[in-house]
Amino acid sequence: MNLHEYQGKEILSSFGVRIQRGIVAQNASEAVTAAKQLTNETGTSWYVIKAQVHAGGRGKGGGVKLAKNLQEVEEIAGKIIGMNLITPQTSAEGKKVHQVLVAEDVYYPGESETEEFYMSVLLNRGTGRNMIMYSTEGGMDIETVAEETPHLIFTEEIDPSVGLLPFQARRVAFNLGLSGMAFKEMTKFVMALYTAYVKSDSSLFEINPVLKTSDNKILAVDAKVTIDDNALYRHKDYVDLRDLREENPIEVEAKEVGLNYVDLDGNVGCMVNGAGLAMATMDLIKQAGGEPANFLDVGGTADAARVEQAFKIILKDPAVKAILINIFGGIVRCDRVAQGVIDAYKNMGNIEVPIIVRLQGTNADIAKELIDNSGLAVLSATEFQEAADKVQEVLV
Ligand code: GDP
Ligand code: MN
Repeated sequence: MNLHEYQGKEILSSFGVRIQRGIVAQNASEAVTAAKQLTNETGTSWYVIKAQVHAGGRGKGGGVKLAKNLQEVEEIAGKIIGMNLITPQTSAEGKKVHQVLVAEDVYYPGESETEEFYMSVLLNRGTGRNMIMYSTEGGMDIETVAEETPHLIFTEEIDPSVGLLPFQARRVAFNLGLSGMAFKEMTKFVMALYTAYVKSDSSLFEINPVLKTSDNKILAVDAKVTIDDNALYRHKDYVDLRDLREENPIEVEAKEVGLNYVDLDGNVGCMVNGAGLAMATMDLIKQAGGEPANFLDVGGTADAARVEQAFKIILKDPAVKAILINIFGGIVRCDRVAQGVIDAYKNMGNIEVPIIVRLQGTNADIAKELIDNSGLAVLSATEFQEAADKVQEVLV
């Protein structure tokens, strides 16, 4: 589950990570009230108005702007809320902004220069350990840093049996070139950040930039936080942080009816039972020269009602040019699935894309007969390759 910056910062702060403080606002007048309150609480006289959408690179798209007085707060917030923000991380249509974070300005001048760093906490799947990835090149696109100056990216791997050790946090501060008070602040920041990552059951923290202020404080200016969905049962207070407006509407709907659906970019819709078979089916589609339009695991009970729900979800994607149904009848009998497909097809009326059904397992032969005699424009197959060939045929 992805969070908004303001929500991520609240979680960080609850574990003692210093953040750029801010108050979220839904409209321009709320933004002005928020700015006044922020000045009372922090003494700030300038503000940063930040679009809250689930996408990075907001600054580049005009979604992060400095306001030097309350009038500018009102103007800028009014412009950003309601805008269609296009950033390098959104689609070409952009994302509608529903709210802004009014944050204190933390780039104020002082005894030293401000410095921006990059820091993330994530799982290294190669070693099976969490790691902190960090760089002196903050505020930049980390993919670009990785490509052009990979030696400026450092990692610190954490041994799960002992957790992050203080010497490791000091090494981070050292590699970032810090000394004195900023060095101490950074070690505290890193320790608190890692604790927050583990205790919140997150799967990604990306703080870009981490800022060293001109008075040598270290704080999170931005926060991309992804919580592990599978651990949400342990964090009932995080469940409400989900903002469905930010998620793929087809995926949201699929979830509501209990289907395991992931939207993809291709043209062949797939309906499969079992995640492993779904992956194999996607490979099959690629081999046949198509591109999977989705991942869809209908689960064990592929009855008519479920097949119909799955059809409806798949057909919401206008890119779908063919549907491949690949069901293994282990627990469920193939003839029941076939009847389900036929009933669903008749119920749905006009399905315009060709459908290829491959049923294998218990009563596969009866199932094939049912499909072939149904009089519907459904192609049946029993072998994997046969199904692939038929997908290829209908695509050309
Ligand atoms: P992103 O573009 O979506 O990654 O949003 P960020 O939260 O990282 O903000 C983008 C940029 O805005 C940062 O890299 C900073 O350069 C700038 N910025 C953020 N907060 C402040 C602030 O308090 N004062 C000033 N002057 N600039 C800020
Ligand atoms: Mn950022």
